[in-house]
Amino acid sequence: MNKPVKVLFAGIARYFGDYNRVVSLGVACLKAYVDSQFSADAVQAKTVNILDNNTAYLLSEIKQFAPDIIGFSCFLWNVDFIINVCRELKKNNPSIKIFLGGPEATGRRISLLKDCSADAVIIGEGEGPVKDIIERFIQHKDWNGIRGVILPSYTDEQSEKELPQILPLEMLPSPYLSKNALGTAMQSKMFYPFETMRGCPNRCSYCMWTTLGAKSVRYFPIERIKAELEWMTENTPDTYIFVADSDTFANRERAMSLAPLFLKAADEGRLKFIFQTNLKSWNKELMQAYNHPSVELNVGINTLNPKVQQLFGRVYTKEFVEENLRKLYEYAPRTKVLIQMMYACPKETFADFCAFFDWAWSIPYFDKMFFHTQLLSGSRISGMRKELKLTSRKKPPFYITSTAECNEQEIKTEEIMILCTAIWMCNPHTEHLFRRFVDEYCNKSFSLAFLKVWTALSSVEHNTILDFLTYLDSGADRLPDDFQLDVLHDFFVDKNLDLQALFNSANRRTFYAYTISSYLEKFCDIKMRGVLL
Ligand code: SF4
Repeated sequence: MNKPVKVLFAGIARYFGDYNRVVSLGVACLKAYVDSQFSADAVQAKTVNILDNNTAYLLSEIKQFAPDIIGFSCFLWNVDFIINVCRELKKNNPSIKIFLGGPEATGRRISLLKDCSADAVIIGEGEGPVKDIIERFIQHKDWNGIRGVILPSYTDEQSEKELPQILPLEMLPSPYLSKNALGTAMQSKMFYPFETMRGCPNRCSYCMWTTLGAKSVRYFPIERIKAELEWMTENTPDTYIFVADSDTFANRERAMSLAPLFLKAADEGRLKFIFQTNLKSWNKELMQAYNHPSVELNVGINTLNPKVQQLFGRVYTKEFVEENLRKLYEYAPRTKVLIQMMYACPKETFADFCAFFDWAWSIPYFDKMFFHTQLLSGSRISGMRKELKLTSRKKPPFYITSTAECNEQEIKTEEIMILCTAIWMCNPHTEHLFRRFVDEYCNKSFSLAFLKVWTALSSVEHNTILDFLTYLDSGADRLPDDFQLDVLHDFFVDKNLDLQALFNSANRRTFYAYTISSYLEKFCDIKMRGVLL
């Protein structure tokens, strides 16, 4: 009798605040599906979920399990690490088969295979292609011609034309309810991605999923969602659930029927839910149904600039946004809302951004967050880079560094403005000073206030802040966006910290945040009392 084929699915997560156990969902879904399709005599599948590019641990797991096939789930924050691991694995064991999936593999397609020594890229959803490649492996056949799979021998044209496999969701077992699919021990204080649906009807030009033909939306059965939430309530209480749907609320009727399930899990399991959504999805009844302190809505506003909205394919007026944010505040006052916006956008001047920044900070309620616009491989705006005169970083996260309308220096200033204002406004010790400065000396303009403070700082002070930015911005696994989140979630506001102990600890971000906020506080104070009053 033949030995079972061994398949290892490797997920590599990234830092998320003090919730230090993030689970990669994709690899768990693959393991659950493979277990449902093959007998244990034919295939032995295993998931390994690691944090922070821990090479030693990953290599020891690989050595111990000795897989025939390894699959990696590639994201912006881990793809460079995975490329290096692939090269290393192939050097030491050329017969091992490696496939790459996930958003970065889907966007980069054959160009990713040219960067490393992997055997295949899977585009889109992985369950169907993974089953096919394992079947072919068992039959000693090659992987040529499997739908959704790109091989190094394919031409660029073949690679571009390859279409994903899309299976009915009823066929897919739950990664949470299937035995050992998650690849990590159960405990509280986890951070789980979670799906209630797949597909997206929108066509945002900065998103790579729009090129996959996944416009039709499919839903997981409500009974499965109920069972998964009950499992989490029981097994991993006090956990963050990141609902990775394109927009759970776009189908209002379904969102209404899911509300009691989510809220029950929030009350009984202390689960906290983070949803991505669009203001267009909401009405009064839905807002009231999700009015709960354990619900966080990440509302994608992106921009109010009509030219940028047209380019991005997300158009709504300022009046519509203001009216619906107001309603959200009125009908769901207990719900945490984070308004998500973008900077370094094509077709936006520095002055346009400053006006948008002022608008954002004029919204009296809700947290705010600004994302640096990225040129994601496979997205439509990435294909328009020449036409739009865009430059970007060569490495993930592919931030836009200049546009036809904004030079590098201006985009850097936008970034520093966002970061410093976030620190000032999220720290109670500086908030009142900065707000007074904005109101009394800058005609209520946050951007003008920042520019005044920035201009008045010495070169030493500039360098301190720029060093901090460089520290935060030193790779796709460490981003200023994460820091904004830390600040918003109050991870660092503690005036009784032991600075020396903090400096010596691994949590250098907290140290920087603390010292810079104290320093800016001192600066604001001097300006307010001494120079400007
Ligand atoms: S960014 Fe979100 S809403 Fe837009 S196309 Fe992508 S998944 Fe859909």
